[in-house]
Parts: sequence; C-alpha cells; structure tokens
Amino acid sequence: MGTPNFRFAFRGFRSRNLKTKNDNFCLMKLPYILLVDDDIQVLRAIQRDVRSEYREEYKVAAAESALDALELIKELKLKNESLALVVSDQRMPEMEGVAFLEKVNEVFPEAKKVLLTAYSDTEAAIKAINDVKLDYYLLKPWHPPEEKLFPILNDLLDDWHAQYKPDHEATRIIGFQWSPKSHHLKQFLSGNLVPYIWMDVESHEESEKYLVSANADKSNLPLVVLKDGTFLIDPSLSELASCVGLQQKATKEIYDVLIIGGGPAGLAASVYGSCEGLKTLLVEKSNPGGQAGNSARIENYLGFPNGLSGAELTRRAMTQTQRFGTEILTPQEVKAITVKDGYKITEMMDGTKVHSKTIVIATGAAYAKLDIPGLENFTGAGVYYGSASVEAHACRNETIYIAGGGNSACQAAMYMSQFAKEVIIVIRKDMLSQTAANYLVENIKKTPNIKVLSNHDVTGCAGTTVLETITLKNSKTGEEQTVSAKALFIYIGTRPGTNWLKDTLLKDEKGFIVTGRDLMKDKSYHTFWKLDREPYMPETSVPGIFASGDVRSGALAGISSAVGEGALAIRFTRKYLQEM
Ligand SMILES: Cc1cc2nc3c(=O)[nH]c(=O)nc-3n(C[C@H](O)[C@H](O)[C@H](O)COP(=O)(O)OP(=O)(O)OC[C@H]3O[C@@H](n4cnc5c(N)ncnc54)[C@H](O)[C@@H]3O)c2cc1C
Repeated sequence: MGTPNFRFAFRGFRSRNLKTKNDNFCLMKLPYILLVDDDIQVLRAIQRDVRSEYREEYKVAAAESALDALELIKELKLKNESLALVVSDQRMPEMEGVAFLEKVNEVFPEAKKVLLTAYSDTEAAIKAINDVKLDYYLLKPWHPPEEKLFPILNDLLDDWHAQYKPDHEATRIIGFQWSPKSHHLKQFLSGNLVPYIWMDVESHEESEKYLVSANADKSNLPLVVLKDGTFLIDPSLSELASCVGLQQKATKEIYDVLIIGGGPAGLAASVYGSCEGLKTLLVEKSNPGGQAGNSARIENYLGFPNGLSGAELTRRAMTQTQRFGTEILTPQEVKAITVKDGYKITEMMDGTKVHSKTIVIATGAAYAKLDIPGLENFTGAGVYYGSASVEAHACRNETIYIAGGGNSACQAAMYMSQFAKEVIIVIRKDMLSQTAANYLVENIKKTPNIKVLSNHDVTGCAGTTVLETITLKNSKTGEEQTVSAKALFIYIGTRPGTNWLKDTLLKDEKGFIVTGRDLMKDKSYHTFWKLDREPYMPETSVPGIFASGDVRSGALAGISSAVGEGALAIRFTRKYLQEM
C-alpha cells in the first residue's frame, strides 16, 4: 500500500507506554458508577450492595436527588473522569428518573443506564427504552443481589468496557478526518472490536508529537501507534491485523467445518459447530458481524427488549464461539473452493489453502453501490456505505444526508441524530412508512432534527478532495438543487456476496445460492446431483457444501433468520459427516 511500511520502536513515548501491570493499575483512573434515589434507605441499600461487589474496579458515588447527581456528572466531565453506569430511581420529586437519564445522555452518551422502578412504573420504563435508550429496568427489591442485580450490572459493565478506550490501552490512528485510508483502518479496528483512539491530524494537538517521533509527515498518513509504542505507517489491513493480534493462518491440517463469512449466520454456525465438538474454522474477509455489525441498534432480536447494537451482538457471539474453540481468521478473503475426493479445499486471496470435510457459506450480502458519476472518489471521504457508528463523532453539529428509506437507513438516522445538527433522509417514495418498520417511522417522527425528503434522488456529488455538495432531484417536478453536505450515508439495499464463487455452485438469477429441494427444480439437477438421497435443506449443488443466511436463495433476510439458518446448517453438516 503506497509508502513502504516500517515498524520501529516508538521511542518518544515508549517510556510512558511501557508499564508493568501493577503500574497500570496504579495510574489508571477508576471509572464511576453513580446511584441516584431520593429514598435514603433504598439509596443506602443499593450503595452497600454495589460497593461490596464493585469497589475494587469502580468508584461508587451516590446522590439523593437528580439535581445533585447532575452537578456531580458535570464535575466528572470537567475532571475528565469516566462514567460507566448510572442507576436511577424513577419517582423523584424534582425530576423523574427518565428525564434525568435523558440529561445524563447529553454528557455521557456511552454510560449504561438503568432505571430502578416499582412494578407500577414499568410502563414508564418500557417507554424510556425508546426515549432515552435505557439499557435495563430493574424492579425493586433486587434481593438476593447475586441473582437479581449483579448478573445484570456485570453484563452492562462488560458492554461498556468493550467500547471504552482508556488512553494507555488503546491503539492510536492518526490521519486526516475525511481520508478513505483512515476510514478503512478505523472501520476495520472497530469491526474487530479492537479499541482505538482516533486523532485528526489537523485538530488534535498531540498528533504532531507522534508524527515527529515516528519520523512521519502528513504525506504518508495514516500513522498507527500500537499500545506497546511501536508504530506502522500506512499499513495494510493484514499488517495491522497481525500487529493487534488477530489470527490470519489456520493451525490445523483439516477442519470438520470451514465457515466462510462472519455475519450472524456464520457466527451462529461457528458457535453450534464448535459447541458440538467439531473442529471449526471461521474465515472473514473484513470484520466479524457482517451487515448486522453496522447496525446502530437492533430492536427485534429475541431476548433483548432494550435493543442492542450490532457491535455488542458481535462481541457476545465472538466471545461465545472462541470460548468453544472456534478459530477465526481475519482479514482473509476466500477466493475459490474446489473439491477433491470429497474433501473441500478453500483458497484464500493470499494464496493459502485450507482443507475441510464440509463448508458452510455465509457470505451474506454487501451494500449496493449508488450509481452516480464520480461518487467512488469520495468513498470514505464523506460518502459511506453503512459505517454510521464509525463516523458519527466526526459529524457532530453537521448536516448530513442518508440515501434510502429502509430499516437500516432509519436506524442509522436515529443514531446519527444524537450527533449531527440535522439528518436528512432522502427517499424515492412518498412516505417512509412504505419502506420502513412502523416503530422506526414513529421514532423518526418524534426526533426533531431528522427530516424526510420524499420523492427525491441523489443525482450528483462534488468536492475537491472530500465531499462538499450533493445534488438532489425531485422525481415529480424534475427540479434539481445542489446542497452542501459533509457526509452522505448510503443504505439502498444489498447484493449477494457470491461473485467469487463463479460457477462452482448453482445460483438463482439474482446470484443467491440455490439449496435443498429447489435444486431439484433445475433442469440440470441429474447432471450435478449423483447421491441416492435428496439434497438436505441448506445443502448446495455440491454435497457437503451448505449455504445459510442472506446468501441463500429464498432466505428471509434478518438477523434472527440468519442465526437460525447458521444453526440449521450445522445440524446437516453433522448428518453429512456421519455419511462420510
Ligand atoms: C445497517 C443494517 C442494519 C440492520 N439492522 C437489522 C435489524 O435491526 N434487525 C434485523 O433482523 N436485521 C437487520 N439487518 C439485516 C441483517 O443484518 C442481515 O439480514 C444479516 O446480517 C444477514 O446475516 P448473514 O450472516 O447472512 O450475512 P452478512 O451479515 O451479510 O455477513 C456476511 C459476512 O461474510 C463476509 N464475506 C463475504 N464474502 C466473503 C469472502 N469471500 N470471504 C470471507 N468473508 C466474506 C462479509 O464480510 C460479512 O462479514 C440490518 C442490515 C444492515 C445493513
């Protein structure tokens, strides 16, 4: 990639960065947990329980009123402290808990928020899930805390830690805000759940010091400074991956099942595969999570009434599958598969080959590109496919545009509305309700800084090095207007991730992989299917190769379906293995 890559010790900062575990512990500021209740007895009781469990890792603060708590929160912000969790009573005289948590959101949007309610307040709590992105509502009393309090708080604190980047522990990326290369690295690290600190070379005062110490200049950015003080200039994804400890080479000669694609279907297949004792390898070309990993808030996944972000879901799934022993290679893109004596050979882009007895293809779908002349010049430099969560902070106080009116466009708009001054959703149809789920349409109506521009197309774009303007055309009147735009996020549908397969497997006219009994409808069925049995439901035109999730012809798109299909593919993988 452009500039040759040097990897040196980063001396200027090394002495500060290299600390023993003990030093780290001493120097690290403990994050806060804040408890708020006007009933002093309840406050003391929860304070006692929370302190007994968390005092080693958190500072536990308590306030007897919402106003006192808000003062404390402002003070924490001024002192650059971090707030991990707030537990607040709902019924308080000066301010209700929901209103208070809304204010907390303005100062510490990442803090986890729990409402403490009596049974009669549950309606307010459920409403607060939408209004303030409440993470949990806890019914009083919470005894015994080992069963009813700590498991919930542990879960929330784990989530908070996964996003939290203490200065001394994070990798730093230094580059230009609207540079595609920087965007690519940020997206890769965040997708692989590697904490990083982003430093815009034009506005972050410390960035110059890093450049000088690394002997780098603005012409060869981005610069990556690893947490041990070494640095990389303009690294490729695989160089960066190996430096942050991501696995890229398979360790076994042969696997029972090799899964291609680390979206919900692939991750589910990997959990079920390794959990059942199969030697399981998952290969992902960019970052696990797939399309779902880009979702700012998934609200329809069973068992998570408060919703969860795609990053959270991915983190949980990755932890689960690695605990069972799945190996994950990333970034590794599969180029081709071949079959020899019933064994499957998967070839990667870097030329390495891995052998397995079965394969599950879960390569899902990728964003459809918006076809506007010159738009590709701005991809990563103001034009983004997905990635709302990666670039949200850069859009603070800006007007941004979202092209597309489906559920994912609406989720992105809701998320971006917390940062941007104004979010404009550009749709071709008359109304958003024609393309998006009702709950999202309602949420959008209630969000004052989101506007919907119906009957419009994005038809042009311009800028010198980064996106500066877009052209919008009214499809009813033909009228065109050019507006300034800092960012355009595109969500106009997806295409199956099957180009790489060429003619190895039977695909339908849109490129989705045909499986099961649908194969039998093809006139060439008897030429490719030679077994006595019929193809299993998720089995492709090659026995022992299965397809699951969005990539499968006839699949119901969505996270729950993809997860179900991943699990189903493993059930049939086992049957196939018994036949071998
Ligand atoms: C922004 C957004 C928000 C969404 N929100 C919701 C929601 O709230 N609820 C819901 O039910 N659905 C939602 N969806 C839809 C849902 O995410 C998808 O239906 C689901 O992710 C499909 O899962 P999958 O595993 O089949 O495929 P994908 O999620 O598409 O994953 C496929 C993976 O395969 C990898 N891959 C592709 N080709 C190769 C190759 N050659 N080698 C190696 N790896 C490869 C890709 O990088 C990708 O990680 C959303 C989609 C988007 C885009």
